Amino acid sequence: MIAMKVMKFGGTSVGSIESLLNLRNIVNAQTKPVIVVVSAMGGFTNQLLAMCEQAQQRDISCLDVLETARKRHHDAIDGVVIDSMRDEVHATIDRFIDESLKTYYLALATNPHMPVDEIGRLCDAIVAHGEILSSAIVAGMFEDSVPHLSLNYMRTVPDGTGRVLDWEETERLVKSDFASMTDGVHVAQGFISRDKESGDVTNLGRGGSDFTAAILAALLEADSLEIWTDVDGFMTADPRTHPEATVIPTMTYEQAQQMCDAGAKVIYPPTIAPVAARHIPVWVKNTFNPSAPGTVIIDN
Ligand code: ADP
Ligand code: ASP
Ligand code: MG
Repeated sequence: MIAMKVMKFGGTSVGSIESLLNLRNIVNAQTKPVIVVVSAMGGFTNQLLAMCEQAQQRDISCLDVLETARKRHHDAIDGVVIDSMRDEVHATIDRFIDESLKTYYLALATNPHMPVDEIGRLCDAIVAHGEILSSAIVAGMFEDSVPHLSLNYMRTVPDGTGRVLDWEETERLVKSDFASMTDGVHVAQGFISRDKESGDVTNLGRGGSDFTAAILAALLEADSLEIWTDVDGFMTADPRTHPEATVIPTMTYEQAQQMCDAGAKVIYPPTIAPVAARHIPVWVKNTFNPSAPGTVIIDN
């Protein structure tokens, strides 16, 4: 396997021009190839879901929120996308908003008798657009970007009332999609997937982009997984509610798993196991303070 790392950038890390420019500097400093997994722009997933609720109440003002989000994405493109790709990325954003999102919201708003499972499918298809749009912007930031589409290889199967990753099918598809790891910045969406049988768009759960990155790191035998977020590392407690919290420089997978299970939101709990099983170090780093040492999570 070729030496490479997987770097995941969360919602705040792709949420503004300032953070996207930091992302660019961080990624440009890496040896290529590198895999960059991105979340939706901060807050947009919540907005997409809130708009689903509004549309079901036949409240068409959700389309106003969509226009605000369109502007936010276009402003980001103007701020960060390279000249040669800017027009194309603007057009991509408009196409997804006009041809997919608007159509889906209008379908929800105008079909009072839509069956519940159909509503669920439509909302899953809608919420996937957060990562689809942000990844188009990030891929447009690098001359040597190689865009991937996680809908093509992340597969889920039903599990009780929820769903779980189908590891076998995902492994087959990931290995084929990333078979020729050409040098460059490989950009993939976190969170999004498809149902193995139906092909319907699904997702890995809220906060699931960390898990996407861990799955890719594990299946492609990455040298390391980096979780780039908005705090200086994995801390003794949530700094939002515990200002006295300090960064933990080194943790074991077991310690990290325990803290994640207890609610430390900095890493989505299912993320740890696949990388722990392959002894892949996990770094937690701050996009807004990249020189801070961060946290490394290792065997012992
Ligand atoms: P991202 O959008 O990058 O995935 P998240 O909001 O999911 O970021 O996770 C980062 C947030 O997790 C931090 O802003 C912090 O408030 C919260 N958090 C909760 N517990 C911890 C902890 N133990 N260490 C660090 N951050 C924590
Ligand atoms: N965008 C998704 C969410 O907000 C996934 C993620 O950010 O990890 O939950
Ligand atoms: Mg997160």
